Amino acid sequence: MEKINAIKGMNDILPSETYIWSYLEQKIKLWVQSYGYENIRMPIVENTKLFTRSIGEVTDIVEKEMYTFIDKLNNDSLTLRPEGTAGCIRAVTQNQLLYNTTQKLWYMGPMFRHERPQKGRYRQFHQLGVEALGFKGPEIDAEIVLMQAQLWQILGLKNIQLQINCLGEADERVKHKQELIAYFEKYKDLLDEDCLNRLYKNPLRILDSKNPQLQQLINEAPQLINYLGKQSQQHYNGWKQYLQQLGINFAENSRLVRGLDYYNLSVFEWVSFNLGAQGTISGGGRYDPLIKQLSGKDNYAIGFGMGMERLILEIQAQNQTPNPDYPDVFIANFGEATQAMSFNAAQQLRDRGYNVIQNLSDGSLKSQLKRANSMNCRITLIIGETEVLNNQIVVKFMDSQEQQVINFDELVNHIK
Ligand code: ATP
Ligand code: MG
Repeated sequence: MEKINAIKGMNDILPSETYIWSYLEQKIKLWVQSYGYENIRMPIVENTKLFTRSIGEVTDIVEKEMYTFIDKLNNDSLTLRPEGTAGCIRAVTQNQLLYNTTQKLWYMGPMFRHERPQKGRYRQFHQLGVEALGFKGPEIDAEIVLMQAQLWQILGLKNIQLQINCLGEADERVKHKQELIAYFEKYKDLLDEDCLNRLYKNPLRILDSKNPQLQQLINEAPQLINYLGKQSQQHYNGWKQYLQQLGINFAENSRLVRGLDYYNLSVFEWVSFNLGAQGTISGGGRYDPLIKQLSGKDNYAIGFGMGMERLILEIQAQNQTPNPDYPDVFIANFGEATQAMSFNAAQQLRDRGYNVIQNLSDGSLKSQLKRANSMNCRITLIIGETEVLNNQIVVKFMDSQEQQVINFDELVNHIK
Protein backbone atom coordinates (compact mmCIF):
# COMPACT_ATOMS: atom_id res chain seq x y z
CA MET A 1 0.00 0.00 0.00
CA GLU A 2 1.16 3.54 -0.68
CA LYS A 3 2.73 5.02 2.42
CA ILE A 4 1.47 8.44 3.39
CA ASN A 5 3.98 10.70 5.10
CA ALA A 6 3.81 14.16 6.59
CA ILE A 7 4.31 17.13 4.26
CA LYS A 8 7.96 18.06 3.85
CA GLY A 9 8.95 20.74 6.36
CA MET A 10 5.84 20.13 8.47
CA ASN A 11 7.01 18.03 11.38
CA ASP A 12 5.42 15.86 14.01
CA ILE A 13 6.40 16.92 17.49
CA LEU A 14 6.82 13.69 19.43
CA PRO A 15 6.58 12.98 23.19
CA SER A 16 10.39 13.04 23.38
CA GLU A 17 10.11 16.80 22.68
CA THR A 18 6.59 17.83 23.66
CA TYR A 19 7.56 18.02 27.31
CA ILE A 20 9.96 20.83 26.39
CA TRP A 21 7.14 22.58 24.54
CA SER A 22 4.81 22.29 27.55
CA TYR A 23 7.50 23.60 29.86
CA LEU A 24 8.14 26.55 27.56
CA GLU A 25 4.45 27.30 27.06
CA GLN A 26 3.92 27.43 30.83
CA LYS A 27 6.88 29.72 31.41
CA ILE A 28 5.85 31.98 28.54
CA LYS A 29 2.28 32.30 29.73
CA LEU A 30 3.33 33.49 33.19
CA TRP A 31 5.98 35.76 31.75
CA VAL A 32 3.73 37.63 29.27
CA GLN A 33 1.08 37.94 31.97
CA SER A 34 3.62 39.52 34.29
CA TYR A 35 3.99 42.35 31.75
CA GLY A 36 0.23 42.80 31.42
CA TYR A 37 -0.34 41.05 28.10
CA GLU A 38 -3.64 39.32 27.31
CA ASN A 39 -4.09 36.34 25.06
CA ILE A 40 -5.76 36.67 21.64
CA ARG A 41 -6.42 33.80 19.21
CA MET A 42 -6.88 34.45 15.51
CA PRO A 43 -7.80 32.13 12.64
CA ILE A 44 -5.01 30.36 10.78
CA VAL A 45 -6.49 31.24 7.38
CA GLU A 46 -7.00 34.83 6.27
CA ASN A 47 -7.87 36.66 3.09
CA THR A 48 -4.73 36.74 0.90
CA LYS A 49 -5.01 40.51 0.46
CA LEU A 50 -4.43 41.03 4.18
CA PHE A 51 -0.91 39.66 3.81
CA THR A 52 0.02 41.05 0.39
CA ARG A 53 -0.97 44.54 1.51
CA SER A 54 0.53 44.57 4.96
CA ILE A 55 3.69 42.50 4.53
CA GLY A 56 4.58 44.15 1.20
CA GLU A 57 4.68 42.82 -2.35
CA VAL A 58 8.48 42.79 -2.62
CA THR A 59 9.29 40.55 0.33
CA ASP A 60 10.42 36.93 0.63
CA ILE A 61 7.12 36.00 2.19
CA VAL A 62 4.78 37.46 -0.41
CA GLU A 63 7.00 36.72 -3.42
CA LYS A 64 7.60 33.06 -2.73
CA GLU A 65 6.68 31.73 0.69
CA MET A 66 2.90 31.90 1.06
CA TYR A 67 0.56 28.92 0.95
CA THR A 68 -2.25 30.46 -1.06
CA PHE A 69 -5.28 28.64 -2.42
CA ILE A 70 -8.67 29.38 -3.89
CA ASP A 71 -11.70 28.63 -1.72
CA LYS A 72 -13.66 26.35 -4.04
CA LEU A 73 -17.01 27.55 -2.78
CA ASN A 74 -16.72 31.24 -3.56
CA ASN A 75 -13.40 31.64 -5.38
CA ASP A 76 -11.88 33.80 -2.64
CA SER A 77 -8.11 33.75 -2.47
CA LEU A 78 -7.10 32.54 0.99
CA THR A 79 -3.69 32.12 2.64
CA LEU A 80 -2.34 30.11 5.56
CA ARG A 81 -0.93 32.79 7.86
CA PRO A 82 2.83 33.25 7.36
CA GLU A 83 3.04 35.51 10.44
CA GLY A 84 0.71 36.78 13.12
CA THR A 85 0.86 40.57 13.21
CA ALA A 86 -1.35 41.25 10.19
CA GLY A 87 -4.12 38.95 11.48
CA CYS A 88 -3.83 40.35 15.00
CA ILE A 89 -4.23 43.94 13.83
CA ARG A 90 -7.07 42.87 11.54
CA ALA A 91 -8.83 41.30 14.55
CA VAL A 92 -8.19 44.32 16.77
CA THR A 93 -9.55 46.70 14.14
CA GLN A 94 -12.54 44.56 13.21
CA ASN A 95 -13.53 44.21 16.87
CA GLN A 96 -12.73 47.83 17.76
CA LEU A 97 -10.42 46.85 20.58
CA LEU A 98 -8.42 50.04 20.23
CA TYR A 99 -11.28 52.47 20.64
CA ASN A 100 -9.96 55.12 23.07
CA THR A 101 -7.63 52.66 24.75
CA THR A 102 -4.39 50.72 24.43
CA GLN A 103 -3.90 46.96 24.12
CA LYS A 104 -1.17 44.52 25.06
CA LEU A 105 -1.76 41.20 23.32
CA TRP A 106 0.00 37.89 22.83
CA TYR A 107 -0.66 34.72 20.85
CA MET A 108 1.12 31.52 20.02
CA GLY A 109 0.58 29.10 17.19
CA PRO A 110 1.60 27.67 13.84
CA MET A 111 2.71 29.80 10.89
CA PHE A 112 3.29 28.58 7.34
CA ARG A 113 6.00 29.55 4.87
CA HIS A 114 7.13 27.68 1.79
CA GLU A 115 10.87 27.70 2.47
CA ARG A 116 13.66 25.19 1.97
CA PRO A 117 13.46 23.04 5.11
CA GLN A 118 16.63 22.85 7.21
CA LYS A 119 17.56 22.98 10.89
CA GLY A 120 15.66 25.93 12.38
CA ARG A 121 13.69 26.57 9.17
CA TYR A 122 10.46 24.72 8.50
CA ARG A 123 7.30 25.09 6.45
CA GLN A 124 5.07 24.84 9.47
CA PHE A 125 6.70 26.47 12.48
CA HIS A 126 5.44 28.10 15.64
CA GLN A 127 5.68 31.68 16.75
CA LEU A 128 4.99 33.52 19.92
CA GLY A 129 3.69 36.95 18.95
CA VAL A 130 3.56 39.92 21.30
CA GLU A 131 1.95 43.22 20.24
CA ALA A 132 1.68 46.46 22.24
CA LEU A 133 -0.77 48.87 20.63
CA GLY A 134 -1.33 52.55 21.24
CA PHE A 135 1.98 53.52 22.89
CA LYS A 136 3.89 56.35 21.26
CA GLY A 137 7.12 56.92 23.17
CA PRO A 138 10.30 54.84 23.33
CA GLU A 139 9.32 53.56 26.81
CA ILE A 140 7.36 50.66 25.32
CA ASP A 141 10.21 49.94 22.88
CA ALA A 142 12.43 49.58 25.94
CA GLU A 143 9.95 47.40 27.85
CA ILE A 144 9.49 45.11 24.86
CA VAL A 145 13.23 44.50 24.73
CA LEU A 146 13.55 44.26 28.51
CA MET A 147 10.90 41.57 28.72
CA GLN A 148 12.72 39.41 26.19
CA ALA A 149 15.99 39.84 28.07
CA GLN A 150 14.10 38.62 31.12
CA LEU A 151 12.79 35.56 29.31
CA TRP A 152 16.34 34.49 28.48
CA GLN A 153 17.07 34.77 32.18
CA ILE A 154 14.00 32.74 33.15
CA LEU A 155 15.08 30.02 30.72
CA GLY A 156 18.72 30.11 31.84
CA LEU A 157 19.97 31.27 28.42
CA LYS A 158 23.11 33.35 27.95
CA ASN A 159 24.87 34.98 25.01
CA ILE A 160 21.88 35.91 22.91
CA GLN A 161 22.87 39.10 21.19
CA LEU A 162 20.53 42.05 20.85
CA GLN A 163 20.89 43.95 17.57
CA ILE A 164 19.00 47.18 17.04
CA ASN A 165 18.44 49.75 14.33
CA CYS A 166 16.16 52.66 13.51
CA LEU A 167 14.28 52.67 10.20
CA GLY A 168 12.94 56.21 10.59
CA GLU A 169 9.80 57.08 8.66
CA ALA A 170 8.86 56.36 5.04
CA ASP A 171 9.52 59.93 3.85
CA GLU A 172 13.00 59.88 5.40
CA ARG A 173 13.79 56.69 3.55
CA VAL A 174 13.06 58.22 0.13
CA LYS A 175 16.38 60.07 -0.18
CA HIS A 176 18.29 57.11 1.23
CA LYS A 177 16.55 54.84 -1.28
CA GLN A 178 17.77 56.98 -4.18
CA GLU A 179 21.33 56.92 -2.84
CA LEU A 180 21.14 53.16 -2.33
CA ILE A 181 19.97 52.61 -5.91
CA ALA A 182 22.76 54.84 -7.23
CA TYR A 183 25.30 52.95 -5.13
CA PHE A 184 24.19 49.42 -6.06
CA GLU A 185 23.76 50.39 -9.73
CA LYS A 186 27.51 50.89 -9.85
CA TYR A 187 27.97 47.24 -8.85
CA LYS A 188 25.03 45.80 -10.74
CA ASP A 189 27.01 42.92 -12.25
CA LEU A 190 27.97 41.72 -8.75
CA LEU A 191 24.37 41.47 -7.51
CA ASP A 192 22.51 38.14 -7.40
CA GLU A 193 19.08 37.64 -8.90
CA ASP A 194 17.16 38.43 -5.70
CA CYS A 195 19.02 41.68 -5.17
CA LEU A 196 18.68 42.73 -8.82
CA ASN A 197 14.98 42.17 -8.47
CA ARG A 198 14.90 44.46 -5.47
CA LEU A 199 17.25 47.11 -6.81
CA TYR A 200 14.52 49.48 -7.98
CA LYS A 201 11.50 48.17 -6.11
CA ASN A 202 12.89 47.82 -2.60
CA PRO A 203 16.67 48.40 -2.39
CA LEU A 204 16.57 48.56 1.42
CA ARG A 205 15.92 44.83 1.37
CA ILE A 206 19.24 44.24 -0.40
CA LEU A 207 20.84 45.11 2.95
CA ASP A 208 19.08 42.07 4.39
CA SER A 209 20.71 39.67 1.88
CA LYS A 210 22.47 36.68 3.41
CA ASN A 211 24.57 36.06 0.28
CA PRO A 212 28.15 35.87 1.64
CA GLN A 213 29.62 37.30 -1.56
CA LEU A 214 27.70 40.54 -1.12
CA GLN A 215 28.55 41.25 2.48
CA GLN A 216 31.38 43.70 1.88
CA LEU A 217 29.44 45.58 -0.76
CA ILE A 218 26.48 45.88 1.59
CA ASN A 219 28.63 46.97 4.52
CA GLU A 220 29.87 49.93 2.53
CA ALA A 221 26.45 51.04 1.28
CA PRO A 222 25.00 54.41 2.38
CA GLN A 223 23.60 54.17 5.91
CA LEU A 224 20.01 55.06 6.65
CA ILE A 225 20.87 56.57 10.03
CA ASN A 226 22.46 59.54 8.25
CA TYR A 227 19.15 60.37 6.56
CA LEU A 228 16.91 60.38 9.60
CA GLY A 229 15.12 63.54 10.76
CA LYS A 230 15.21 65.01 14.25
CA GLN A 231 12.16 63.20 15.63
CA SER A 232 13.34 59.79 14.52
CA GLN A 233 16.80 60.48 15.97
CA GLN A 234 15.21 61.50 19.25
CA HIS A 235 13.09 58.37 19.40
CA TYR A 236 16.11 56.20 18.66
CA ASN A 237 18.28 57.97 21.23
CA GLY A 238 15.54 57.77 23.83
CA TRP A 239 15.25 54.03 23.27
CA LYS A 240 18.99 53.50 23.50
CA GLN A 241 19.19 55.54 26.69
CA TYR A 242 16.55 53.40 28.36
CA LEU A 243 18.36 50.24 27.29
CA GLN A 244 21.59 51.57 28.77
CA GLN A 245 19.84 52.51 32.00
CA LEU A 246 18.35 49.01 32.18
CA GLY A 247 21.78 47.46 31.69
CA ILE A 248 20.79 45.75 28.42
CA ASN A 249 23.70 45.35 26.02
CA PHE A 250 23.02 45.91 22.34
CA ALA A 251 24.85 46.10 19.04
CA GLU A 252 23.72 48.71 16.53
CA ASN A 253 23.35 47.11 13.12
CA SER A 254 22.61 49.53 10.31
CA ARG A 255 21.84 46.60 8.00
CA LEU A 256 19.02 45.36 10.16
CA VAL A 257 15.94 46.19 8.07
CA ARG A 258 13.68 43.21 8.88
CA GLY A 259 11.86 41.12 6.34
CA LEU A 260 8.56 42.95 6.21
CA ASP A 261 7.69 46.35 4.80
CA TYR A 262 5.52 47.58 7.61
CA TYR A 263 8.14 48.65 10.15
CA ASN A 264 9.17 52.18 11.17
CA LEU A 265 11.55 53.59 13.80
CA SER A 266 12.79 50.91 16.24
CA VAL A 267 13.64 47.44 14.94
CA PHE A 268 15.53 44.68 16.73
CA GLU A 269 16.60 41.05 16.56
CA TRP A 270 17.90 38.62 19.16
CA VAL A 271 20.57 36.47 17.58
CA SER A 272 22.06 33.21 18.81
CA PHE A 273 25.59 32.12 17.96
CA ASN A 274 24.57 28.45 17.95
CA LEU A 275 22.13 28.28 15.06
CA GLY A 276 24.07 29.44 12.00
CA ALA A 277 22.03 31.20 9.33
CA GLN A 278 18.90 30.42 11.38
CA GLY A 279 20.32 32.46 14.26
CA THR A 280 17.52 34.95 14.74
CA ILE A 281 15.41 33.63 17.59
CA SER A 282 13.19 36.66 17.88
CA GLY A 283 12.68 39.80 15.87
CA GLY A 284 10.36 42.74 15.71
CA GLY A 285 9.92 46.44 15.87
CA ARG A 286 7.56 49.36 15.61
CA TYR A 287 4.90 49.34 12.89
CA ASP A 288 2.83 52.49 13.26
CA PRO A 289 2.18 52.64 9.49
CA LEU A 290 0.53 49.20 9.42
CA ILE A 291 -1.97 49.99 12.09
CA LYS A 292 -2.88 53.17 10.23
CA GLN A 293 -3.21 51.28 6.98
CA LEU A 294 -5.46 48.58 8.43
CA SER A 295 -7.55 50.74 10.75
CA GLY A 296 -7.61 53.99 8.80
CA LYS A 297 -6.54 55.93 11.92
CA ASP A 298 -3.20 57.18 13.17
CA ASN A 299 -1.98 54.96 15.96
CA TYR A 300 1.10 53.33 17.43
CA ALA A 301 2.23 49.73 17.53
CA ILE A 302 5.26 47.63 18.36
CA GLY A 303 5.74 43.90 18.64
CA PHE A 304 7.88 40.87 18.02
CA GLY A 305 7.68 37.32 16.73
CA MET A 306 9.68 34.62 18.45
CA GLY A 307 10.41 31.33 16.70
CA MET A 308 9.59 28.52 19.13
CA GLU A 309 11.56 25.83 17.28
CA ARG A 310 14.66 28.03 17.25
CA LEU A 311 14.19 28.86 20.92
CA ILE A 312 14.00 25.14 21.72
CA LEU A 313 17.15 24.46 19.67
CA GLU A 314 18.88 27.18 21.68
CA ILE A 315 17.63 25.74 24.98
CA GLN A 316 19.05 22.37 23.91
CA ALA A 317 22.33 23.87 22.68
CA GLN A 318 22.80 25.59 26.05
CA ASN A 319 21.85 22.44 28.00
CA GLN A 320 18.87 24.10 29.65
CA THR A 321 16.25 21.46 28.85
CA PRO A 322 13.97 20.67 31.79
CA ASN A 323 13.49 17.17 33.17
CA PRO A 324 10.83 15.14 31.36
CA ASP A 325 7.53 14.70 33.18
CA TYR A 326 8.06 11.26 34.71
CA PRO A 327 5.08 9.40 36.19
CA ASP A 328 5.25 9.33 40.00
CA VAL A 329 4.00 5.84 40.64
CA PHE A 330 4.01 2.54 38.78
CA ILE A 331 1.69 -0.22 40.00
CA ALA A 332 3.05 -3.66 39.24
CA ASN A 333 0.72 -6.61 39.76
CA PHE A 334 0.40 -10.26 38.87
CA GLY A 335 -2.72 -12.35 38.71
CA GLU A 336 -6.20 -11.30 37.63
CA ALA A 337 -7.38 -11.03 41.22
CA THR A 338 -4.98 -8.13 41.77
CA GLN A 339 -6.41 -5.71 39.19
CA ALA A 340 -9.32 -4.52 41.35
CA MET A 341 -6.94 -3.50 44.13
CA SER A 342 -4.63 -1.88 41.57
CA PHE A 343 -7.47 0.24 40.17
CA ASN A 344 -8.38 1.20 43.71
CA ALA A 345 -4.80 2.22 44.61
CA ALA A 346 -4.39 4.13 41.35
CA GLN A 347 -7.59 6.08 41.94
CA GLN A 348 -6.69 7.03 45.50
CA LEU A 349 -3.32 8.34 44.36
CA ARG A 350 -4.65 10.18 41.29
CA ASP A 351 -7.20 11.87 43.53
CA ARG A 352 -4.25 13.26 45.48
CA GLY A 353 -2.49 14.54 42.37
CA TYR A 354 -0.03 11.73 41.64
CA ASN A 355 0.57 10.57 38.06
CA VAL A 356 0.08 6.84 38.09
CA ILE A 357 0.72 4.08 35.58
CA GLN A 358 -0.97 0.79 36.33
CA ASN A 359 0.20 -2.45 34.75
CA LEU A 360 -2.61 -3.59 32.47
CA SER A 361 -1.02 -6.67 30.91
CA ASP A 362 0.22 -9.96 32.32
CA GLY A 363 3.97 -9.46 32.06
CA SER A 364 6.34 -11.00 34.62
CA LEU A 365 7.17 -9.01 37.75
CA LYS A 366 10.71 -8.62 36.46
CA SER A 367 9.65 -7.06 33.19
CA GLN A 368 7.21 -4.77 34.99
CA LEU A 369 9.91 -3.51 37.35
CA LYS A 370 12.12 -2.92 34.34
CA ARG A 371 9.40 -0.79 32.79
CA ALA A 372 8.96 1.15 36.02
CA ASN A 373 12.69 1.82 36.05
CA SER A 374 12.85 2.93 32.44
CA MET A 375 10.01 5.37 33.07
CA ASN A 376 11.89 6.87 36.03
CA CYS A 377 8.96 6.43 38.40
CA ARG A 378 9.74 7.51 41.94
CA ILE A 379 7.69 4.78 43.55
CA THR A 380 6.64 1.30 42.51
CA LEU A 381 3.76 -0.49 44.21
CA ILE A 382 3.59 -4.25 43.96
CA ILE A 383 0.38 -6.21 44.38
CA GLY A 384 0.33 -10.01 44.25
CA GLU A 385 -2.42 -12.43 45.23
CA THR A 386 -1.00 -12.76 48.76
CA GLU A 387 -1.21 -9.02 49.21
CA VAL A 388 -4.84 -9.04 48.09
CA LEU A 389 -5.67 -11.78 50.59
CA ASN A 390 -4.00 -9.88 53.45
CA ASN A 391 -5.18 -6.42 52.37
CA GLN A 392 -1.55 -5.36 52.03
CA ILE A 393 0.61 -3.69 49.40
CA VAL A 394 4.35 -3.56 48.73
CA VAL A 395 5.85 -0.08 48.41
CA LYS A 396 9.25 0.32 46.79
CA PHE A 397 11.05 3.66 46.68
CA MET A 398 13.12 3.50 43.54
CA ASP A 399 16.02 5.77 44.49
CA SER A 400 16.81 4.08 47.83
CA GLN A 401 15.52 0.68 46.68
CA GLU A 402 13.91 0.53 50.13
CA GLN A 403 10.92 -1.85 50.12
CA GLN A 404 8.15 -2.31 52.69
CA VAL A 405 4.95 -4.28 53.04
CA ILE A 406 2.20 -2.08 54.49
CA ASN A 407 -1.48 -2.27 55.19
CA PHE A 408 -3.41 -1.20 52.09
CA ASP A 409 -5.37 1.41 54.08
CA GLU A 410 -2.07 3.12 55.00
CA LEU A 411 -1.04 3.62 51.35
CA VAL A 412 -1.75 7.30 50.94
CA ASN A 413 -0.16 8.28 54.26
CA HIS A 414 2.84 6.09 53.69
CA ILE A 415 4.08 7.40 50.36
CA LYS A 416 3.69 11.12 51.07
P1 ATP B 1 14.82 34.60 8.64
O1 ATP B 1 15.62 35.81 8.31
O2 ATP B 1 15.55 33.60 9.48
O3 ATP B 1 14.14 33.99 7.44
P2 ATP B 1 12.50 36.16 9.15
O4 ATP B 1 13.02 37.55 9.16
O5 ATP B 1 11.83 35.64 7.93
O6 ATP B 1 13.65 35.13 9.59
P3 ATP B 1 10.36 36.85 10.94
O7 ATP B 1 9.38 37.02 9.87
O8 ATP B 1 10.91 38.04 11.62
O9 ATP B 1 11.58 35.94 10.41
O10 ATP B 1 9.78 35.84 12.04
C1 ATP B 1 10.11 35.94 13.42
C2 ATP B 1 10.82 34.69 13.89
O11 ATP B 1 10.14 33.50 13.49
C3 ATP B 1 12.21 34.50 13.32
O12 ATP B 1 13.13 35.28 14.02
C4 ATP B 1 12.42 33.02 13.54
O13 ATP B 1 12.81 32.76 14.88
C5 ATP B 1 11.06 32.46 13.28
N1 ATP B 1 10.96 31.93 11.91
C6 ATP B 1 10.75 32.63 10.77
N2 ATP B 1 10.67 31.81 9.71
C7 ATP B 1 10.83 30.54 10.19
C8 ATP B 1 10.84 29.24 9.62
N3 ATP B 1 10.61 29.04 8.32
N4 ATP B 1 11.02 28.18 10.43
C9 ATP B 1 11.23 28.33 11.75
N5 ATP B 1 11.23 29.53 12.36
C10 ATP B 1 11.03 30.63 11.60
MG1 MG C 1 12.45 34.42 6.32
